[in-house]
Amino acid sequence: MKEEGCEHLDDSPIGKCAICGKTVCSECYRTVFSETICDEHEALEEESAWELVGLYADTGTLDEKRFELEEQGIASIVVEEDEDAVELYVPAEDKDDAYAMLKVSGDETPVCTECKIQYATDSETCPICGKTPADMDEEADPIEEYD
Ligand SMILES: [Zn+2]
Ligand SMILES: [Zn+2]
Ligand SMILES: [Zn+2]
Repeated sequence: MKEEGCEHLDDSPIGKCAICGKTVCSECYRTVFSETICDEHEALEEESAWELVGLYADTGTLDEKRFELEEQGIASIVVEEDEDAVELYVPAEDKDDAYAMLKVSGDETPVCTECKIQYATDSETCPICGKTPADMDEEADPIEEYD
């Protein structure tokens, strides 16, 4: 079984890694998106290493989604912007795989095929580009849309 925390834990554990859940102390923690992470994600310490793949109103189903991503070997991080905006990021190189997985994950959560994100917010439209799922359908298959 994997170690639960860093080697310095007798010292001062300050929190858990937002990516892998490992306990970190003041000596070895890093931050990205203002979230605490451990020192095992060297390549992911810059925000530019991440791509947004989901926008949600709350963290409700996120554990499940993150678990599925983890099963595929895809790291993820949840960033709470404010009380009703939660963002899900994956490493840029895994964005397409993560999006493909979220898209077929079975729930009814809309996706934006343009931005390649899933969004479950109060908004009917993609919070990034402003398109609705119907707009997407039209673009994907214009003939079907007109009776
Ligand atoms: Zn970690
Ligand atoms: Zn430590
Ligand atoms: Zn969009």
